Amino acid sequence: MSNSDSDTKLNFVRQIVADDIKSGKWDGKVATRFPPEPNGFLHIGHAKSICLNFGIAEEFGGTCNLRFDDTNPIKEEQKYIDSIKEDIRWLGFDWGDQLYYASDYFEKMYEFAVKLIKKGKAYVCELTGEQIREYRGTLTSPGKNSPDRSRCVEENLELFEQMRAGEFPDGSKTLRAKIDMSSPNLNLRDPVMYRILHATHPRTGDRWCIYPTYDWAHGLEDSIEKITHSICTLEFENHRPLYDWYLEQLDIHHPQQIEFARLNLSYSVMSKRKLLQLVSRGRISGWDDPRMPTISGMRRRGYSPQSIRNFCKKIGVNKFNSTISLALLEHCIRDDLNKTSGRVMGVLNPLKVIIDNYPDGKTEYLEAVNNPEDSSYGTREVPFSKELYIEQGDFIEEPPKKFYRLAPGREVRLRYAYFITCTDVVKNDAGEIVELHCTYDPATKGGNAPDGRKVKATLHWVSAKHSLNAEVRLYETLFTKENPDDTPAGKDFTESLNPKSLEIIKSCKIEPSVKDAKPLDRFQFERKGYFCLDTDSSPEKIIFNRTVPLRDKWAKILKQKKNREKQKQQKKK
Ligand code: ATP
Ligand code: MG
Repeated sequence: MSNSDSDTKLNFVRQIVADDIKSGKWDGKVATRFPPEPNGFLHIGHAKSICLNFGIAEEFGGTCNLRFDDTNPIKEEQKYIDSIKEDIRWLGFDWGDQLYYASDYFEKMYEFAVKLIKKGKAYVCELTGEQIREYRGTLTSPGKNSPDRSRCVEENLELFEQMRAGEFPDGSKTLRAKIDMSSPNLNLRDPVMYRILHATHPRTGDRWCIYPTYDWAHGLEDSIEKITHSICTLEFENHRPLYDWYLEQLDIHHPQQIEFARLNLSYSVMSKRKLLQLVSRGRISGWDDPRMPTISGMRRRGYSPQSIRNFCKKIGVNKFNSTISLALLEHCIRDDLNKTSGRVMGVLNPLKVIIDNYPDGKTEYLEAVNNPEDSSYGTREVPFSKELYIEQGDFIEEPPKKFYRLAPGREVRLRYAYFITCTDVVKNDAGEIVELHCTYDPATKGGNAPDGRKVKATLHWVSAKHSLNAEVRLYETLFTKENPDDTPAGKDFTESLNPKSLEIIKSCKIEPSVKDAKPLDRFQFERKGYFCLDTDSSPEKIIFNRTVPLRDKWAKILKQKKNREKQKQQKKK
């Protein structure tokens, strides 16, 4: 493997895997898994984990299981399972026939628990949740043993069986591991393995009324599936001793847990709990709202799977928590869409233009390039006629310096069409400009003057009678705060939601070539950005989402910020 190219450089997780393959640690095998809890839709943070786990399996000829960690029946739903599958496939990964559910292992987990009880390593505890917390102690003070800790094996076995049989109410008993109430690691202070919960599970129905905790279940799931490298996020570093303890006590297949830093993205929240709140409180239209950092939201917004994969490659994998700039994600999106989206002309804020010297009723079809980055996209014909629309912002009656677009008496190029000169401005009673009159030069067909004269601006346009009406939705960041998780006590994170995150423009005019587009088809509207046909779009009501504006306003903002900081520092000196 070459280390010269940053794409193929091994991140530390891949380095561990590569070393293990070399040393024959797992007989040269690699088995990873992606283990979502089906309690919400996947987000861009999950994409990082998916790219890592599936990527490693692909790269080293191993396998990656999709495992639903469905151990908490209260929050889990089938619709989440379906969306998770759809999102992983859309990102371009395939679990083949390696689809598993933690709930399929409940019986085995129960047997493992019995084994621990028989070893004297687990006991049924009758402390309430509150008491358990109280007895646990703190980072600076040791915990206290539960009065039930010395219960004999036979009694524990009997009580645990009764717990399973449904003989006790919720919360009245737990099964706990007997480890060390004075361990400096709080996770090792007799952690709970099972709690009683009389709840119907989407897959196992009412068969169980005791459910395993994450720490107890997760290592078993990995072990049962013969995972070699169990990759998880940094919060679980302190849980690793417990992961290892369970598997050592049971003396079963023991994967290596490896922790990496989770992805945080500026102006976004990444907690499923918070995302769920946005959905359930109706603060956005749903999990797939194009402003959401979810995979489904990004798909609807127009992000391509390749661009998300490129982003994950670019940010790499490391051991330190940090926040990645949204600008970097948008850079990856633009970079990919520039190569892969067909160009069209769309006018977001239309201003009528009448070409006075163009014949009434005539339509010409002018050749336009579909993708200057890739000639295989070919060309298309764009209709031109006497009445056109241009962008309101492309005309100023009294143009300031450096404004080179249309103004009275000025000549500009209409892309792929002709040079036009503005001859008259028509206003309504309120003094607003309602239409422009222009003349065109027939000799400039295609956009070049045979006499070599130059114009300083090229505008996009559409033919009024041929254009399609569309609604266009423009997006800003969902939050105004760079770190919306950083919410002062007593405040709600939704207070920093951006009131301007969605702007709807109702009567945009788009060239007719998009009429056969299907939902999620992506385009570049020349000079305006990348757009994607919305999933709710129909021929009667065409809706486009702006994926990302063309120009990198982020780079601009960041540059301005940097400059300001520089100036501040210079002042200090
Ligand atoms: P929660 O546990 O709060 O429900 P979660 O985000 O941890 O949410 P899981 O369904 O447990 O959700 O996540 C599945 C996998 O995705 C886990 O292995 C987890 O480590 C990984 N993951 C979750 N969030 C991120 C993130 N922001 N960056 C990288 N990986 C993540
Ligand atoms: Mg989790």
